[in-house]
Amino acid sequence: MMGQQGSGQERLFYSLNLDDHVPRNHLLRGIDRFLDLSELRRHLAPFYSHTGRPSIDPELMIRILIVGYCFGIRSERRLCEEVHLNLAYRWFCRLGLEDVVPDHSTFSKNRHGRFRESDAFRHVFEMVLQRCMAEGLVGGEGFAVDASVVKADASRGHSVSGAEFAYGEFEHERSTRAVREYLQGLDEDGEANLRKSVSLTDPAASWTCAPGGPAFFAYSTNYLIDVHSGIVVDVEATAAHRTQELDAAKKMIERVEQRFEVRPKQLIGDMAYGAAPMLDWLVQEKQIEPHIPVWDKAERQDGTFSRSEFHFDAEHNRYACPGGKHLHTTGNPTIEGTILYRSRNLECASCPMKPRCCPNTPQRKIPRSVHEASRDVARALANTEAYRASRKKRKKVEMLFAHLKRILKLDRLRLRGRSGAQDEFLLAATAQNLRRMAKWLVPRAPYVELLPT
Ligand code: SF4
Repeated sequence: MMGQQGSGQERLFYSLNLDDHVPRNHLLRGIDRFLDLSELRRHLAPFYSHTGRPSIDPELMIRILIVGYCFGIRSERRLCEEVHLNLAYRWFCRLGLEDVVPDHSTFSKNRHGRFRESDAFRHVFEMVLQRCMAEGLVGGEGFAVDASVVKADASRGHSVSGAEFAYGEFEHERSTRAVREYLQGLDEDGEANLRKSVSLTDPAASWTCAPGGPAFFAYSTNYLIDVHSGIVVDVEATAAHRTQELDAAKKMIERVEQRFEVRPKQLIGDMAYGAAPMLDWLVQEKQIEPHIPVWDKAERQDGTFSRSEFHFDAEHNRYACPGGKHLHTTGNPTIEGTILYRSRNLECASCPMKPRCCPNTPQRKIPRSVHEASRDVARALANTEAYRASRKKRKKVEMLFAHLKRILKLDRLRLRGRSGAQDEFLLAATAQNLRRMAKWLVPRAPYVELLPT
């Protein structure tokens, strides 16, 4: 017999315990177990007035934002609706059935106000990281570093050249938060002048181009992860430039060392991190093994001798060429940080190997970086078994970026300015660490993720 649902919605009073209605294996239960925000109120206290109307509880707002970043709900308006309707989200946010969910505009005010002034998101990220460390998920044996480009919330069409931006009249655009923030941080030499294209919506975003696609405005999210567990130990937002990504890598390594007294034994990265000054900093200053391919343009493709065919004699500070002669130097470095070793014109003129060595010049010059000793350390490591193993571990950071964009849906930013990008990347990395802890440390059946429809 076909049943018919009774009209049971007239009841006014219900006896309901939210905890009974959240599945035991729900992802948020695992996350809640590892999220302790008791310190947050103390951290934020100096940024609130002692008088006036009580604000919305900052812990509530952070919990709602964590729900949004954990489940890829990118719109704050939609996030508030989801928290209003979803029992598990209410439970996680410590809201009762009749409690009112804050308005979405409250998030905007707090994000750009107190949360940013107090660096609240970094505080939350570090509290979660501290818990990861306490649970033994960060060994410090090996870290991997990488950067990934994320589209900025800036249209290609609303942009001008750097010179136009510097000297043009854009009164309306200059009044926006992202442009004001950018202008305050602009170098005195007017860095914008040199740029090909500057967004009038978010001038701090870089005009960048992915292979095979059209150019767009973007930021880079820089991750430093522990390769044992894939926990993000630091994150930094930069413009999508290699030099800024290198600076971010150094900054993150130093910050983790200062805050948590953890320095990795090895750093794994791709060739973008294999520039000589970066390798030297790792080897000489930090005593970290660089498991990084050396950035080397010395190999020749035209059939003439490459630098690797010249043997360096450290004791006498000279190179020996394939013809058995010596190349000497004055020892003065060039502005690029290289020292030139030169052969003698007379020796080369009578050498039978000259057509294969320097067919168009009277002598052969070999440039040697002032950081060559550190590059040699990286080259030697590249032949070890440990290096081959670390190449595979580097994939973990790429998997985190894929997860960030595909599951957490952070393939385009919603906040503008570098500080907006930093806030978003910090919250996303916090969500990834919490999800990882919940999945690794709570042994049970597969989690139920009640994704919004
Ligand atoms: S050409 Fe000069 S540098 Fe080259 S192999 Fe002969 S002697 Fe050596």
